[in-house]
Amino acid sequence: MSLSRFAFPTAIVFGEGARHELAPSLQAQKLAHPLVVSDRGLAQQAFFKDWLAELQAAGLQVSTFTELGGNPVKSQVLAGAAAYKAAGADCIVGIGGGAALDVAKAIAVAATHPHDLFDYEDRPGARPIDQSLPPWFALPTTAGTGSEVGRSAVISDDQSHAKKIIFAPELMARQVFADPELTLGLPPALTAATGMDALTHLVEAFLAKGYHPLCDGIALEGLQMVQRSLVQAVHTPGDKPARAEMLLASLMGAVAFQKGLGLTHSCAHALSTVTDMHHGLANGIMIDHALRFNLVAVPERFDRLAQTLGLESGPVFFDWLRALKQEIGIPARLSELGIQASQIADLVTVAQADGCHANNPRPCSPDDFRQIFQEAL
Ligand SMILES: [Zn+2]
Repeated sequence: MSLSRFAFPTAIVFGEGARHELAPSLQAQKLAHPLVVSDRGLAQQAFFKDWLAELQAAGLQVSTFTELGGNPVKSQVLAGAAAYKAAGADCIVGIGGGAALDVAKAIAVAATHPHDLFDYEDRPGARPIDQSLPPWFALPTTAGTGSEVGRSAVISDDQSHAKKIIFAPELMARQVFADPELTLGLPPALTAATGMDALTHLVEAFLAKGYHPLCDGIALEGLQMVQRSLVQAVHTPGDKPARAEMLLASLMGAVAFQKGLGLTHSCAHALSTVTDMHHGLANGIMIDHALRFNLVAVPERFDRLAQTLGLESGPVFFDWLRALKQEIGIPARLSELGIQASQIADLVTVAQADGCHANNPRPCSPDDFRQIFQEAL
């Protein structure tokens, strides 16, 4: 039997009000000067201003970088790194959705490494991340990407919009403060889209190639939590138990996908690159169309997904997905968002080049991707 290596190292404080634990925690670690990284929208909200005031009242010297909006790009990271150095900060606090958290991680790299940020992209021949990074702390405000427990940052080139992945175990947050109260203001459409991202992580991680029963167990438990709470969180935004369960399910999805993802994510990355579609929405539209391709390869894994949801058998899992999408307002097909057949060639090129389908349980060729996009149209 070959050796396996498993690791779940992120320290997580989870529950209503967890954000109030940041100040005492920083002080216990002798950190005095955080750079708070967030997006423009969040920075205008009352809870954000109250929370900053609370950090200051605790005696922390707080600097902010809140110039983020849309998909994160390199120039934002460089501006954030300049702000970190100019302020003389000793740690980074990312608060927001996946974009803000990814930028927080990338600022830690840019502020301490001398070469171009994309020289540290995760590819053969890249420069190693070999300088010690400032500690960073994560406060997610959406329940989807799970970036708070991830060890990679996705940053786009300002001009070409090409997505670059910076990956290193050192990019892991020192602590996560997962506070469901921070997700209560998320509008229904965004709750649905980010929730579908979490669901796709859980399902694709479970189906991914490789031996990882720990991740499989987390994925199945997370799947039940999504089944119990996603519809509720979309239709009753103030439902705290549903919000809490979705925040944790999202975090569990990202823990589970250290095992790998699959072809749905390659399709979603293509849709984001070619049509600028929201990542969660893209996964939500594609998940049933793409995963059907895997059914013949691993029918017993689909049976387990179905059993977890209280369904009879694997094929019924797809009915459940379609019904869920309809219930939370995720379009069934790409054409509902104006995607056209003429765009499929570009989508196939990007999807094929994407790394996620390397872990898909069934190999996927350009012809396969073409058929899947056509079927999803
Ligand atoms: Zn995703």
